[in-house]
Amino acid sequence: MPYYPSTSIPDYYLIDDLLTKEHLLIRDSVRSWVDSFVLPQIDQAAQDHKDIPGLMKELGAIGALGPYIPQKYGGMGLDQISYGLIMQELERGDSAVRSAASVQSSLVMFPIYKFGSEDQKLKYLPKLASGEWIGSFGLTEPNHGSDPSSMETHFTEHEDHYLLNGSKMWITNAPLCDLAVVWAKDPEGKVRGLIVERAMEGFSTPETLNKWSLRASKTGELVFDNVKVPKENLLPEVSGLKGPLSCLNSARYGISWGVIGAAIDCYCTAVQYSLERKQFGKPIAGFQLQQKKLAEFLTEITKAQLLCWRLGTLKNDDKASPAQISLAKRNNVKMAIDIARESRQMLGGMGIMGEFPMMRHAANLESVITYEGTHDIHLLITGHDITGINAFS
Ligand SMILES: Cc1cc2nc3c(=O)[nH]c(=O)nc-3n(C[C@H](O)[C@H](O)[C@H](O)COP(=O)(O)OP(=O)(O)OC[C@H]3O[C@@H](n4cnc5c(N)ncnc54)[C@H](O)[C@@H]3O)c2cc1C
Repeated sequence: MPYYPSTSIPDYYLIDDLLTKEHLLIRDSVRSWVDSFVLPQIDQAAQDHKDIPGLMKELGAIGALGPYIPQKYGGMGLDQISYGLIMQELERGDSAVRSAASVQSSLVMFPIYKFGSEDQKLKYLPKLASGEWIGSFGLTEPNHGSDPSSMETHFTEHEDHYLLNGSKMWITNAPLCDLAVVWAKDPEGKVRGLIVERAMEGFSTPETLNKWSLRASKTGELVFDNVKVPKENLLPEVSGLKGPLSCLNSARYGISWGVIGAAIDCYCTAVQYSLERKQFGKPIAGFQLQQKKLAEFLTEITKAQLLCWRLGTLKNDDKASPAQISLAKRNNVKMAIDIARESRQMLGGMGIMGEFPMMRHAANLESVITYEGTHDIHLLITGHDITGINAFS
């Protein structure tokens, strides 16, 4: 159970009043699952650099994998606010848990749902929704991160199959995955999506060890050495970078919500600890400097909550632009990492201990501020949107 009473989770601007009964029910059920399943084991998993056993099937059972995918394909058919609230609650547990659900939902199920054939949807989506199969998403390469258009991974065309060569790096869940949605260049140099299955010869997924961040999540490479991919595994409905970028839009939206959860966990812990911890004869919460920190945390969390709620309504109406999503991802991740670092200081020496979540969240958020577009790249996206001038290259 969390260190603080769940009644102290902030809703300073009564955003709950903007949510439906269904939203609240979903949010609260994921909240209690995180309290009972994730929190008791997350520190040990992160300390041991091990993923939580059975996590994906648990996430499938609570409906956290592809929540907005239609029920026909094993999803829950929920709206975007529900998806956001689920991500928020998962990341209150740990960014690794939210990352697992984000990748499976937005980077694996979403492209299959959006760009796949009916046969591909029926074959893959129900197993991904239940967590029986684990998916990964291969875009980043050793030599090409922020600039995926320069990717080297490519395939050639043969009678009934493609031959895929190249490699992807920093891939969430690569060592565990049963299949990967891989973005590669076709013989004409166009980016296409391929579904690569674990059993395909020449496909390997070495693990990336020694991370100081997202330690409860497996990261690895996807290596393709003349992998024979059947032609029916090509995603037929998309060509060009808009394929992977539309997946990233969906995942970045989820991250904007998710990191609010990490910030809430740090904020609530800091409030509780500062009320209990006494120095100079009174609770440290009674000192102005500590109150300034708490007041600023609450202000920033509230702003981020309002931003996400509005973005969610735009997304439900299919009106959220990629630049609006970038702004929210950049703002909210910075908000959360600042709160994790500052709240850690409020616990003094205890702040570095595994009994409290701040170091874990702060370290995790170093990955979150880097993946799905770095903090600086999102700034350039906003700059481009303001000026119409591309400052990337
Ligand atoms: C734990 C983890 C999990 C990940 N999971 C996945 C995954 O599942 N699938 C996947 O495909 N990828 C994944 N990634 C990769 C992630 O998306 C990339 O790390 C990220 O896009 C940055 O790429 P890079 O690391 O190559 O950095 P680079 O692109 O080399 O950037 C290095 C620095 O240069 C800056 N920079 C780059 N270009 C410019 C520019 N034009 N102007 C100014 N500054 C610039 C960047 O902001 C950054 O600060 C993951 C990464 C991590 C750490």
